Amino acid sequence: MKMETKVIHAGQHPDPLTGAVMTPVYQTSTYAQKHPGVADWEYSRTHNPTRTALQDCLAAAESGTHGICFASGLAAVDTVIRTLEPGDSVICGDDVYGGTYRLFTTVFAKYGIKFTFVDLSDPSIEIPADTKLVWAETPTNPLLKTTDIASLAAKTHAVGGLLAVDNTFATPVFQRPLELGADIVLHSTTKYIGGHSDVVGGALITSNDALADQFTTLQNSVGAVPGPWDCFLTLRGLKTLSVRMQRHDENAKSLVSWMDQRPDVASVIYPGFGGMVSFVLNGDLDAAVRFVKATTVFTLAESLGGVESLIELPAIMTHASVPPEVRASIGIDDGLIRLSVGIEHIDDLRADLETAFASARG
Ligand SMILES: *Cc1c(COP(=O)(O)O)cnc(C)c1O
Repeated sequence: MKMETKVIHAGQHPDPLTGAVMTPVYQTSTYAQKHPGVADWEYSRTHNPTRTALQDCLAAAESGTHGICFASGLAAVDTVIRTLEPGDSVICGDDVYGGTYRLFTTVFAKYGIKFTFVDLSDPSIEIPADTKLVWAETPTNPLLKTTDIASLAAKTHAVGGLLAVDNTFATPVFQRPLELGADIVLHSTTKYIGGHSDVVGGALITSNDALADQFTTLQNSVGAVPGPWDCFLTLRGLKTLSVRMQRHDENAKSLVSWMDQRPDVASVIYPGFGGMVSFVLNGDLDAAVRFVKATTVFTLAESLGGVESLIELPAIMTHASVPPEVRASIGIDDGLIRLSVGIEHIDDLRADLETAFASARG
């Protein structure tokens, strides 16, 4: 089945009771048992049919065999790290999502898990022999650096480690890490998968049965599960993923070629696909602040991946939890502006940015 069809149909069947075409919101915590201990469904932390439909659809979209959903992207990240033991070593990309960085360095470091941050987009990077897990985000956030997943998977497997790829930015429409040798795919479904900025969620996808078993056990034991309404909204968003990504991509490409020509832009960063664009404005931080406050179609907000366009200043907003010296060392300039290009009409997006360039000039 092709992606456009999978995101609409995978894991979903007309409701057996009524024939409802859409998977219902099974808003229940518990299920009647036929005999004591005999039931298809028992308790909604463990299983819920709306969640199962979403999990199966995501697994299919990422070419995996198991999908496991969580209450947020970070709850999914947390689950992967909980499979490790004190003393284990993790190699992590050096400009990962700020919340992932915070979780690794403040929550898990004190449990004796060792995190080393390196530039995984560097093709000559070596993976140390004691590595248990490699954590890659590609494209990265906000510098949109890309990593060769197949090569990184080979290097990681050569030392007996596992490769996890945060595929939130690329989505399975543009990149399917499991097909390239990764062991685990992570999504903040809050972003492109949900696609409408109306729900927070996360997911892990794998084809490794033993890993899936650990993730499912943790999902039930720790309990960071998404509610049925959140699963329904995410599943509804997922149906249009392919068409949305096409338009995000078209609009972003068009803005990139337009901005590349401008003298007031120092540099434009774009990985060549998708809806995320970063750029450095010629001027100081004040000019960048004037720019992001001047837009009206682009809303000044954190997050990304919704149908509406968003604009933000990573140094002050999404990456404020990364220490300034670390930001500087990896190249997150104070004047760096990140756009999540939505699916509005391109003329309106361009006109909005034109106004912002004028405001930035003062
Ligand atoms: C948002 C995000 C996360 C965290 O997900 P939440 O749903 O906010 O918990 C992780 N990775 C990336 C790349 C993200 O953009």
